[in-house]
Amino acid sequence: MNLEQPNLFQESVKEKTEEIKPDVNAQPAFSHNDIPFLPGLNGQEAFPDISDYAKLENLGKNCSACRLRSTCGQVVFGSGNLKSPLLIIGEGPGQDEDIQGIPFVGRAGQLLDKILQAAEIERRQIYITNVVKCRPPGNRLPNPDEVKMCGRFLEAQIRLIKPEIIVCLGSLASQTVISPKVKITQMRGQWLSRQGCRIIATFHPAALLRNPSYKRPVWEDFKSIRDVYKSIA
Ligand code: SF4
Repeated sequence: MNLEQPNLFQESVKEKTEEIKPDVNAQPAFSHNDIPFLPGLNGQEAFPDISDYAKLENLGKNCSACRLRSTCGQVVFGSGNLKSPLLIIGEGPGQDEDIQGIPFVGRAGQLLDKILQAAEIERRQIYITNVVKCRPPGNRLPNPDEVKMCGRFLEAQIRLIKPEIIVCLGSLASQTVISPKVKITQMRGQWLSRQGCRIIATFHPAALLRNPSYKRPVWEDFKSIRDVYKSIA
């Protein structure tokens, strides 16, 4: 199956001025507070005493709080610019990520790179992580208890990075960050605001590899993300 549509993520820069123009001025400054960011999460469990990202990452890399650590190669905590206003959240590491210790480096990651490049967003300028930091065996979906356990790290990452934009890639990230009831097909492309942070969901690049018809809506979503990102970066 030819999964490539080489021109779809290479549309002209000129086009961006014609796209959706979110009301970027209507949002308050980022204001994370004592209320947990993630729905259903107990903030007291999300390492509230840790204010240093390196300490949090070290804790994560030595974590074995759920069964996923016993089958993965290493903990893939996240990568990129901790000062970025843009945080991208995927589902969990796959085989390539498990080997390299970096999120989104396999085929789906390469497609994400292409999308980011087309949207003129430099990957090294943003931060990328996953809902769970250890690869589920056979790339299965993480179980709810694993998501809950690892969500403590995601909550702490959000608290320390203080992103102004969160992009949820796929159903699991959307359900973890936005609401457990979210259906990605209905929610994608819509901007939400929570604690001064703008949140948007779109399809996971791995879903695009399986279903190339998702490429158009993802590109529409990323053009909107680009416009908001450029307005604040
Ligand atoms: S998936 Fe998360 S909670 Fe589970 S062992 Fe890995 S780092 Fe710890």
